[in-house]
Amino acid sequence: MKIAVIGAGYVGLVSAACFADFGYEVVCVDRDAAKLAMLEAGKLPIYEQGLEPIVAGNRRAGRLSFSSHLSEAVAAADVVLIAVGTPTREDADSADLTQLLAAAGEIARAMRGFTVIVTKSTVPPGTAAKLREVIAQARPDGDFEVTSNPEFMREGSAVEDFIQPDRIVVGASTERAERVLRQLYRPLTARDVPLLVTSCEAAEVIKYAANTFLATRIAFVNQLADLCEAVNADIQDVARGMGLDKRIGLQFLAPGPGFGGSCFPKDTRALVHTARQHGHAFSIVEAAIAANEARKDQLADRIQQAAGGTLEGKKIALLGVAFKAETDDIRDSAALSLIPELQRRGAAIAAFDPVAMDNGRRAFDAVQWCADAYSAVIGADAAVILTEWNVFRGLDLKRLARGMRQPVLVDFRNLFPLADARASGIAYHSVGRQSIAAAARQDADIIPFKSGTA
Ligand code: NAD
Repeated sequence: MKIAVIGAGYVGLVSAACFADFGYEVVCVDRDAAKLAMLEAGKLPIYEQGLEPIVAGNRRAGRLSFSSHLSEAVAAADVVLIAVGTPTREDADSADLTQLLAAAGEIARAMRGFTVIVTKSTVPPGTAAKLREVIAQARPDGDFEVTSNPEFMREGSAVEDFIQPDRIVVGASTERAERVLRQLYRPLTARDVPLLVTSCEAAEVIKYAANTFLATRIAFVNQLADLCEAVNADIQDVARGMGLDKRIGLQFLAPGPGFGGSCFPKDTRALVHTARQHGHAFSIVEAAIAANEARKDQLADRIQQAAGGTLEGKKIALLGVAFKAETDDIRDSAALSLIPELQRRGAAIAAFDPVAMDNGRRAFDAVQWCADAYSAVIGADAAVILTEWNVFRGLDLKRLARGMRQPVLVDFRNLFPLADARASGIAYHSVGRQSIAAAARQDADIIPFKSGTA
């Protein structure tokens, strides 16, 4: 089976590499010349654990190649996967399908023989039908199927998620389309990965519903953390106590700076928009979005309060700018609105992130980028943990405190047991737990729990 993947971003590149690793011949197409130049030079344009050896090995084996020539790749392909961006439109909350429709037009002109077009991008219900119409109009003679195959991978564990997914969802409207998708995923279904076949519309809704549900959980746990602060309960205990209930589960119960990234903010907005278009108010999701925005707006206030009531002339050290750990992606990260707001309030910003600093340099002005966390905090009036990188979990808090002008740590990811923070002498402010200044009792260590975050 020959596959063309349109888009060499997080989803396209991982899918292309993993399908090549299953033994298929894959050409991954992108229109971004800089990205292609990197890929052709053997470098990855994104950071994703475990991806590099798969790309390199399959390129060496001749199964994976990169190209800017969509028409050549599509003409030779049996299956064309579309993995282009579907960001929020600038003038509305709906998904912007410009990239998708442009790719569909190019695919229509280029396809030869029976071709199965697979939408991996996250798209509103009705998009498969729209693509079918657009392609049939451009190529009335075309022999093709349009299917919907939403992708559930998480940045940071995308390779693992791709090769060991909880399920594969296939939206197909004919038996022959379903047959090809079943064949495409045989390497996974042979290992008992469940494959669910639905209508294209249901597949499209499933993706939005899954992301929106997880985002709502995060908004819920963040408001729960606020309540815990008010009633002197520890959110770590509360979340674990809830999550051990099998009906609830432990994942996505970690409080933090609010959900971000390239998917949750745009997908929640798009689902609300779709509901409104059909005359329904998805008020639960609307509330989750509002709560999340309010949370992000409060971050600067929390830091200002911890830093002594004003940020004028203060130095703030930000640890982590990626929207979550194990990725270099800063799209809709908490840092995006926080850094300019801290600067507006008069603070100078020093920052460190293990892999997202190149993206950070492009996104932010007047930030001092540092080689590690300890150098970022030198002379700082407060350090702020925004991303739950493992490398921050092992920080020596005493050493951190020694380098600072004021030993204040605002930890939006609850990476440290309160007892450790207290022993270090640092003024520690975390989420949904007492601040050290207010702590009246010796707390037990945090009981670690598996947390999904975004
Ligand atoms: P991305 O922005 O990282 O990559 C998209 C790529 O498509 C870019 O490199 C762009 O240059 C390329 N492109 C756009 N139009 C093209 C065209 N006509 N021809 C060739 N290349 C073209 O996006 P992403 O994060 O990989 O997301 C892609 C889709 O998958 C989105 O709909 C997203 O919602 C969905 N999704 C993303 C994730 C994730 O974790 N990032 C997870 C699941 C689903």
